Amino acid sequence: ARQFTRPLNDLSNQFNTLLSAVAGADRVFDILDEQEEASDEKQAIELSMVKGEVEFDEVSFSYDGDEDTVQHISFRASPGESVALVGPTGAGKSTIINLITRFYEPDKGRILIDGHESRSIKRESLRSHMAFVLQDSFLFEGTVRENIRYGRLDASDEEVEQAAIAANAYNFIKRMPDGFDTLLRQDGSGISQGQRQLLSISRAILADPSILILDEATSSIDTITELKIQEGLKRLMKGRTSFIIAHRLNTIQQSDQILVIESGRIIEKGSHDELLRKKGFYHGLYQNQFKRHAARAL
Ligand code: ATP
Repeated sequence: ARQFTRPLNDLSNQFNTLLSAVAGADRVFDILDEQEEASDEKQAIELSMVKGEVEFDEVSFSYDGDEDTVQHISFRASPGESVALVGPTGAGKSTIINLITRFYEPDKGRILIDGHESRSIKRESLRSHMAFVLQDSFLFEGTVRENIRYGRLDASDEEVEQAAIAANAYNFIKRMPDGFDTLLRQDGSGISQGQRQLLSISRAILADPSILILDEATSSIDTITELKIQEGLKRLMKGRTSFIIAHRLNTIQQSDQILVIESGRIIEKGSHDELLRKKGFYHGLYQNQFKRHAARAL
């Protein structure tokens, strides 16, 4: 996966698009101006294989060095598990993702990947085991094939097409004027948001990461495309540890673990059923919010 390996100051690369999607587009230029990534530790190691165990041990982090944005975050995701991050806006969900991907480092506590402290791993090596599927997936000016191949540059045409098949993108691509050779514009015009997601899923399948970051779309996508996306995502997530900033009830219900985040803390964690039984914050959220949208989510 090549998506994280380019320098931060190259405006046209996916890294920045990722930053913009993770951190909020309005903040991206601030980050670009202010933040130079620290270089790797001298002894930093490379991980050729990652099973995908991700553990946070009492992690706290502050953007401004003053007030903690997230505090005492502890959880453990086993390889292949799906973890939904749920909570009100500004709670710290994206910040936790930024720490997993090491756009930022914890001020306190440790993040462990397969038992190795994350900061002792070379960033490039760490990120080569991760892929993103975001709401506004990054496309660049080039063919559909090139856009998918961005997930793994040495992939053959056959592998690109297989990834598109697994992602449920193949049929719509085949219907495009020049199929896989159809030229896409960077602004994504001429292709729907749902189709962009299907391309993004194809790209991630091709990248074959152990750890996935998913930012679920909030805007409504037509039902048929939505079903295709759900099915593609299911195939993508199988056997990979995934972190999902989740907005849809069925995604949340199907997650192995739900972390309920409020004001920078994990206030509840467990499966959907466990959290409902607790009759706490999640239960209230479910009653008030998710249930009303359940019809859309199903
Ligand atoms: P949303 O659901 O709206 O995306 P969130 O739960 O993902 O919210 P975060 O984006 O993690 O929340 O934000 C947590 C807090 O940190 C907010 O107060 C936000 O304003 C602040 N914040 C986020 N990114 C930065 C940044 N790059 N620099 C400074 N403050 C930030």
